[in-house]
Amino acid sequence: GIRTPFFNELARLADKQWQAGPVIGGKTLTQGTASAVLSPQDQGRQVGQVWFADQATVAQAVGRAQAAFKGWRDTPVEQRARALEKLAEMLEAHSAEFVSLCTREAGKLLQDGIDEVREAVDFCRYYAVEARRLMAEPTRLPGYTGELNLLHAQGRGPFVCISPWNFPLAIFLGQVAAALVTGNTVLAKPAEQTSLVAHLAVTLAHQAGIPAEVLQLLPGDGATVGAALTQDPRIAGVCFTGATDTAQLINLTLAKRQGAIVPLIAETGGQNAMIVDSTALPEQVVRDVLRAAFQSAGQRCSALRVLYLQEDVAERVLEILKGAMKELSVDDPALWSTDVGPVIDQGARAGLEAHLARMKAEGKRIIAEAPMAKGCDKGFYVRPTALEIGSIKELEKEQFGPILHVVRFKAKDIGQVVDDINGTGYGLTLGIHSRNESFADQVARSVDAGNVYINRDQIGAMVGVQPFGGQGLSGTGPKAGGPHYLSRFITEKTVTNN
Ligand code: NAD
Repeated sequence: GIRTPFFNELARLADKQWQAGPVIGGKTLTQGTASAVLSPQDQGRQVGQVWFADQATVAQAVGRAQAAFKGWRDTPVEQRARALEKLAEMLEAHSAEFVSLCTREAGKLLQDGIDEVREAVDFCRYYAVEARRLMAEPTRLPGYTGELNLLHAQGRGPFVCISPWNFPLAIFLGQVAAALVTGNTVLAKPAEQTSLVAHLAVTLAHQAGIPAEVLQLLPGDGATVGAALTQDPRIAGVCFTGATDTAQLINLTLAKRQGAIVPLIAETGGQNAMIVDSTALPEQVVRDVLRAAFQSAGQRCSALRVLYLQEDVAERVLEILKGAMKELSVDDPALWSTDVGPVIDQGARAGLEAHLARMKAEGKRIIAEAPMAKGCDKGFYVRPTALEIGSIKELEKEQFGPILHVVRFKAKDIGQVVDDINGTGYGLTLGIHSRNESFADQVARSVDAGNVYINRDQIGAMVGVQPFGGQGLSGTGPKAGGPHYLSRFITEKTVTNN
């Protein structure tokens, strides 16, 4: 293989055992029984162990976050921004550890892990710049003669950040960075499947100068730790990324609270389509479909679920897709040659397999299935599959894995296709392949989607350049990595002086 210092370091870390626990006041708690963290790729391989937080620890952490709030709110934004910039440097210095952990704990490909470190670094640097822009000086507003109107931006209070396992570093840290730099104290609840990545990130954040009381980590599952945090009357806001159902549950919890109205920032699921018309270049379509549907084993909120092919181009695209899917390497995510790794856990695999069984029982035609390497039976692998259905309306919910649904349509029915996609209520990503500019423009305007990608795959968002986030059931906005994101973490005070 390729032997660079980075790869040597990955090899050195291949069997390292990691630990995670609640981080309260800067100390990692390791009381009680730990759970073993096993790799999704091979259940025989342990990555480390984790101690989950209990209710009393959650309550204590919220109290400390509340006590630390005013001091942090009144710390100059320059100091908070510098701490994020220092953290960005430290993430880069520790990138091999994160890539190794993303591969072993979350089953992600090496390239996915590398992309995550880059995105986390970008979030830290971008939000540092944005916070200075919004908060360094109060905004001077117009006024009558002699009147001075100043708009001050401030943090809100203890902020709960709840993140998913599919971007255990980038989304986890993106949320935390945004909440911290705007002057909130943070209670971070990572997904229970990826506590080790989160713990390493928090340890580095403290070393980078984020005070211990200002950022605390509460590993644990959603129903206990997540629910306890969102029910606590002392919290000032929730930033959530995950499933739509979970966001709705949190919304209800917050709505029932007496005595305060707190914001919920939610980034949720999707039912993402790509529309291909007869002018598209089939080879280019297939390259982008492979990436959008199967990279990260389809476990991206942006991933392609339903490929709409105009009938004149459908056979050619499907012929190339079939050949390409036979060549996919479904294998160990730590190998460079692997295209598709495992899904996250037993529950995820069972749900995806049940969906495939249902589709087969309904007589849906299987277009192609990828071969699986030996050894895939040791972990949670799902065979990448493309199958044909009649419409996106046949899918009840998001299938979060390597399953691609294909629908053929006639050119005259494009209006119906757009209505069906909008009818799902989701609005996250949309792909368009067409060399007819007015067709592409028209479709981009009429489909409800937060991110539209023309003649490229639809899974890459870039901090500061392609801010990411959905509409409708896919999220509240503002878009992560965009110029309005920090505004939801801030409360404003207008001071008028005669
Ligand atoms: P999930 O909703 O099951 O879990 C997300 C987080 O919420 C976890 O930390 C979990 O412990 C916590 N949680 C669960 N129940 C809770 C409760 N009752 N109260 C408080 N917290 C609770 O989602 P997941 O399976 O981890 O992630 C996959 C989902 O996330 C998919 O639907 C995907 O589309 C979505 N996602 C969206 C984006 C986006 O930017 N829009 C990005 C990544 C993932």
